[in-house]
Amino acid sequence: MFKRDIKSIPKIRLNLFELKPMDALLKTYNFFKMELERYFDENGKPKDSSFKVVNCPICKHWDTTLLATIDHFTYDKCVKCESIYNKKTLRDEVFEEMYSSGIYLEYFKNLVVSSQKLRKEHLERRKVAQLSSLFESPGKLLDVGCGSGSLLKECKDIGWEVYGVDPSEEAVQIAKKTYGLTIDQCTFESYETDNKFDCIVFIGIEHLQDPMGGIAKAKRLLNENGIIFFEAPSADCLLMNHLSKYSVAITSRYIEAGRHYLFFSRKSIDLICTKFDLSLEHIESNGLDLQTILFEEFDDELTNKIIDIQDTINDVGLGDHYRVFLRNSNTNH
Ligand SMILES: [Zn+2]
Repeated sequence: MFKRDIKSIPKIRLNLFELKPMDALLKTYNFFKMELERYFDENGKPKDSSFKVVNCPICKHWDTTLLATIDHFTYDKCVKCESIYNKKTLRDEVFEEMYSSGIYLEYFKNLVVSSQKLRKEHLERRKVAQLSSLFESPGKLLDVGCGSGSLLKECKDIGWEVYGVDPSEEAVQIAKKTYGLTIDQCTFESYETDNKFDCIVFIGIEHLQDPMGGIAKAKRLLNENGIIFFEAPSADCLLMNHLSKYSVAITSRYIEAGRHYLFFSRKSIDLICTKFDLSLEHIESNGLDLQTILFEEFDDELTNKIIDIQDTINDVGLGDHYRVFLRNSNTNH
């Protein structure tokens, strides 16, 4: 499990509709869309009371080109670092309301809890194998936005000393009930600890209000030679390229109607390495681009062909999510 070539760990053949059944995706998509309507006026324009205009969350540059408008949200590409974000984005208090009210719970109930076994036994296990391969032996690990704690449980089982933080009360309760894990219920911004960690995990770093602030804090909490492991939607992927040219009706999984407001480019990841003095240990892309675009269930033979093509798309770096492992090569100052 420990200290081996990360590239030797086999990839997983994933079927979107096994992970997230079509009816659950549609239900969640429609629910989010309906919930978000209140933040737009009758012409579909964002209300000033709910939205703010922001600079690039990664490089702070202001200039963008408009790429696409999906469910009233504009997707703008930073001309400097090529990340894609909502230039007009929901205000912090609206996001807080979304996370603290039932809207997150709905997502959680429909799309996370139902596939917990699949997630734990396949997806989480591979992530844990990958991160562990970068260490001689287990140490202290912090999962930021740990949700129901399935990754933490896998880590704990092979000897990691695990810590988790998540703002959702429901997630924290499920983690305790299902795995007996004690999670700090707060945002990472307000999380306080005397610990230093060997590995800090952000699955869905794009959900942080300030991802760069999050990485800066992680860097401070990281031991020498520690690893920051994050996963984020890709700005460079086949799906985003397709979306910017053709409008696709259901993009729920990838766009999540306003919840995904930031997509990382390869260039922006290099920029993060430079800014925080981290070295890129491993990057890969994993996606469900084709099944998300087609959004239709086919027989096994065709489904297998689609998954084969997706595998190739992932291999050439065009899958819809980036998985990134960054090494803290220098001593913290
Ligand atoms: Zn930028």
